[in-house]
Amino acid sequence: IIEKKIEDILSMMRNPAQVRNAGTLAHVDHGKTTTTDSLLMGAGLLSPKVAGKALAMDYVEIEQLRQMTVKSANISLYFEYEGKPYIINFVDTPGHVDFTGHVTRSLRVMDGALVVVDAVEGVMTQTETVVRQAMEEMVRPVLFINKIDRLIKELRLNPNEIQERIIEIVKDFNNLIDMYADPNFKDKWKVDPSKGQVALGSALNKWGVTIPQAAKAGLKFSNIVDAYEKNYVDELAQEFPLYRAILNMIVEHVPPPNVAQRYRIPKIWRGDINSPLGKALLEADPDGPTVIAVSKMNKDPHAGLIATGRVFSGTIREGDEVYLINAKTSKRVLQTYLYMGPNRIVIPEVPAGNIVALLGVDDARAGETIVASSIKDVAAPFERMKYISEPVVTVAIEPKNPNDLAKLVEGLKELTIEDPTLSLKIDEETGQILLSGVGTLHLEIATWLLKERTKLDFAVSQPLVRFREAVRTTSPTFEGKSPNKHNRLYISVEPLDEETIRLIQYGEVTDDQDPRERAKILREKAGWDTDEARGIWTVDEQYINVLVDKTTGIQYLREIRDYIVQGFRWSIQTGPLAQEPVRGIKVILHDAVVHEDPAHRGPAQIMPATKNAIMAGILAARPTLLEPVLSIEAKTTQENIGSVIGVLNRHRGKVIDMVQSEYMVTIKGEIPVIESFTLSDELRSATAGRVFWSLQFSRWSPVPENMLVDIVMKIRERKGLPKEIPKVEDFISQY
Ligand code: GDP
Repeated sequence: IIEKKIEDILSMMRNPAQVRNAGTLAHVDHGKTTTTDSLLMGAGLLSPKVAGKALAMDYVEIEQLRQMTVKSANISLYFEYEGKPYIINFVDTPGHVDFTGHVTRSLRVMDGALVVVDAVEGVMTQTETVVRQAMEEMVRPVLFINKIDRLIKELRLNPNEIQERIIEIVKDFNNLIDMYADPNFKDKWKVDPSKGQVALGSALNKWGVTIPQAAKAGLKFSNIVDAYEKNYVDELAQEFPLYRAILNMIVEHVPPPNVAQRYRIPKIWRGDINSPLGKALLEADPDGPTVIAVSKMNKDPHAGLIATGRVFSGTIREGDEVYLINAKTSKRVLQTYLYMGPNRIVIPEVPAGNIVALLGVDDARAGETIVASSIKDVAAPFERMKYISEPVVTVAIEPKNPNDLAKLVEGLKELTIEDPTLSLKIDEETGQILLSGVGTLHLEIATWLLKERTKLDFAVSQPLVRFREAVRTTSPTFEGKSPNKHNRLYISVEPLDEETIRLIQYGEVTDDQDPRERAKILREKAGWDTDEARGIWTVDEQYINVLVDKTTGIQYLREIRDYIVQGFRWSIQTGPLAQEPVRGIKVILHDAVVHEDPAHRGPAQIMPATKNAIMAGILAARPTLLEPVLSIEAKTTQENIGSVIGVLNRHRGKVIDMVQSEYMVTIKGEIPVIESFTLSDELRSATAGRVFWSLQFSRWSPVPENMLVDIVMKIRERKGLPKEIPKVEDFISQY
């Protein structure tokens, strides 16, 4: 059966009207996995038995971890709607909050999102996060309100109350769209139950309906309540299978790829949309030049590194010569595949508008743009993906047997290829391995995968929190001297304003941008002086810092510009307080004396001169540490409010908002990452389990003044640094 279907699918791939690219988004535990499984069974790609088994394994904890990583669960489904066949490429996305990076990467390749919301819990923080991300990528949402059975069996709601609950969720959901959607799509993309843009059902019991489907069949809420109370849910499920409701919604309301690309390309692609290439992308032209956006890299133990991506233009074929824009290298495609459940099927070609797996492009990373070699000189890349979470928690990893070091590092490198939100740092001298992730669970899963794959024995340290160093005032101008004393740089340091930080963080201001365009954005949106903005030499997008040149007419300055930039980048990796990365500073070069002989003004002279002045500047600008802070949303019952707030208060947390609904109280607040490690246990025991909550990276916040020295000292001790915090004088020899 499957083989026959692949042939059908192949013939449809060239007709965009018959193709849809979608994926599921949900708050953790709202039912994404169960729903996806229903789709698989409905489309007949997995036998019901296999699907049932996969879920049974969910009860084993480690399997649960594995499931949350959701590897390679892309599927291409075959579905007939009103007598016409469709191919629906379904991109799976991980459900846990620690994996928003994966979500961002998946969104790039989809045009529509099925958002799953638990009918009891309603719209939660992570629902908001994923909807916001979908809006940023111009991905159109449809809504599935899941776990209707819980409204009946647990909350004992009557048909009227069920209807009210659904209306409430739809309203909350549309509020998100109102907040985050592009103004041109706000009204069009709000979901309307009467138009079949909302399905409700129970993934567990495998039934689901849209309102028009229910109306047509004469199904009422009272019939659904009856089905549960009189034990004929199976019949309900057979008459209204969930997969049909969902795939109907997707075919009807997710636009075909060529339609979606018309409005998505101007937003997600950086090139000129009026060029021939731009036109091919807007049209999803299968005969245009090949352009592929890579959303994911993963290692297949047999084949090697596999890239998954969306063909936005052209047709990719086995043997094609392609160019990787970010990696700046040419490769030959060894194989092209289509996803079929957990398997990949070799197919000779994949045209624009479809999702492809590629073998042979090893140097690609998630976010890469692959183009036909013939257009490598004119092609522009896709917009960089914006990750909402940052790697703020670190563990040290040490092999039990020192001889395993190399193998372990190799395994870790593989993990970071697959998951760019992990960051790996190896201390060349001590051999210490540091792995950073966006949360403790993220790191637990990464180290678990490492063990599974390498089968090596290694120790993992307690999680450590990463800090940032920042300044609070403007420093005087300092003179940084080169070791040979022949070069002098005059530099000051000051805090960047919040708006500039935001512009860099969200990729509106970038390092490789046209300087005039960048200056315009900074002037209009963040009030920069035009000359100063034009003087930007580099933007550090990783830690959010800027280097500005304000000099005029200095001889030989152009010759040493690159070394000053390198010195700047070197300085901000390790600030003077605790050698943590520096965040949010503007470094200004005011004046310079440069030696006329190139032999006396090499990088070994200029980089230290730059660093000395920057370090002195930071120390003179009221330096402080920033700590990562999480936002928390906890839902609990009336009588447990005090207990939840008590736990937060004990951990320097604070309550920002409290919303009362008929069944529950939602407490929104903040808590520093460093205080969050024992939170689960404490919340559960304080409320006897009557609480559910989610955490998510919120922002960097200055540590309380009375804790600053203590924290700096602890970090210095841990890193084996001298007890004394450096002073301004240590960086400027005399003054
Ligand atoms: P995910 O984290 O979003 O992938 O959620 P899962 O699909 O793993 O589901 C989370 C939990 O909710 C599992 O225990 C499921 O069995 C359960 N679940 C999923 N759908 C339903 C439903 O319709 N009704 C009920 N009562 N439970 C459900």
